[in-house]
Amino acid sequence: MLSITLIFVGLLVAHTTLLMWLSWRQTRHVRAHRGAVPAAFAAVITLEQHQKAADYTVAKGMLERVDIVLGALITLAWTLGGGLNWLQQLWQPLTDPLWAGTALLVSWMLIGSLVRIPLRIYRVFVLEERFGFNKSTPATFVGDFVKSFVLTLVIATPVVAVVLWLMAGLGAWWWLAVWAVLNLFQLVGIWLYPAVIAPWFNTFTPLPDGEIAQRVAALLARTGYVARGLFVMDASRRSGHGNAYFTGVGRTKRIVFFDTLLEQLTPAQIEAVLAHEIGHDQHRHIIKMIVMNAVATLVGLAVLAWLLPQPWFYAGLGVAQPSLAAALVLFLLVVPVATFMVDPLLSAWSRRMEFEADAYAVTHTNADDMIGALVSIYRDNAGTLTPDPLYAAYHYSHPPASERIGAMQL
Ligand SMILES: [Zn+2]
Repeated sequence: MLSITLIFVGLLVAHTTLLMWLSWRQTRHVRAHRGAVPAAFAAVITLEQHQKAADYTVAKGMLERVDIVLGALITLAWTLGGGLNWLQQLWQPLTDPLWAGTALLVSWMLIGSLVRIPLRIYRVFVLEERFGFNKSTPATFVGDFVKSFVLTLVIATPVVAVVLWLMAGLGAWWWLAVWAVLNLFQLVGIWLYPAVIAPWFNTFTPLPDGEIAQRVAALLARTGYVARGLFVMDASRRSGHGNAYFTGVGRTKRIVFFDTLLEQLTPAQIEAVLAHEIGHDQHRHIIKMIVMNAVATLVGLAVLAWLLPQPWFYAGLGVAQPSLAAALVLFLLVVPVATFMVDPLLSAWSRRMEFEADAYAVTHTNADDMIGALVSIYRDNAGTLTPDPLYAAYHYSHPPASERIGAMQL
């Protein structure tokens, strides 16, 4: 019992220290390179733009470190601090363990999002505002929060109830049934997200006619790609950051452009970005991530099945009364702490997929347009061109700009 407490605290300290060290390295590296635009970008990025990106990255780093410390304290408060114990007692009057357990898990999630509100407010209305990116009004912000809150309630409650019911009723092999159900929910979620959930937060309109539409049609004809949907999202109602993404499965597959990106890029660059997104689909990146997730969930559930009957798992992590719901919450709290060395592998895998999508874009459009689009995106989003290599290796889902451009110029 003492040993799991020690292992848990040891891992939490190691994780937190590593994240703080990386964040601090990033800040130091960006500051050290603030004085000059990297030679490869000197023709396309001004010193002023470069310094804005540096200041923005440094400011985000400060917030990141507050977030890291806060996250560790929250994890400690829930576990050894007795938070989970307290919440479990709060729901004790619901005598049915299924409802008490569902209430425990859902309230734990909702409290988690409430606790982080101050940081979110600071990020949007102070940090993003200072660098000219915020377009959110307090009304949009509150509306978003209420919608997410309702969504968590509506989606999590049935999922949690079904999972707890299977855990209680199926004996030793419950975890295989839970695995199947979770995968099903996830697939339905990915399928529903673009068509049902995302439109609750944004308006999606088809790509406008004109030069862009003609280029898109030509690109689709050239690649033989059947687009289920190409949409423009009104991202500008919240932020000035531009982006594009590929989402959905089956009939809800779609490629989405932020309206902010369309304003920043030339039609030829938009075509290159579209080709990049098509590349993600042609390489089946979403399917690969779903499979990866399913394997990880299976391993996780097998471990949870082993932990479930161990009294030390609860007692060692601050929970006096073992229950299925408490085990689930503890597990969700412990997993990110216990598996933090896997994070850089996932980042590296994601970066490999970005290289593949870039290569696809270069094959089907041209490298100069894709490079031009990237430079624009970095400039207009104040993305740093000089990240710390270790920070980027651990965290970045996209390779640093210089590496992507280097790969496309080969
Ligand atoms: Zn991509």
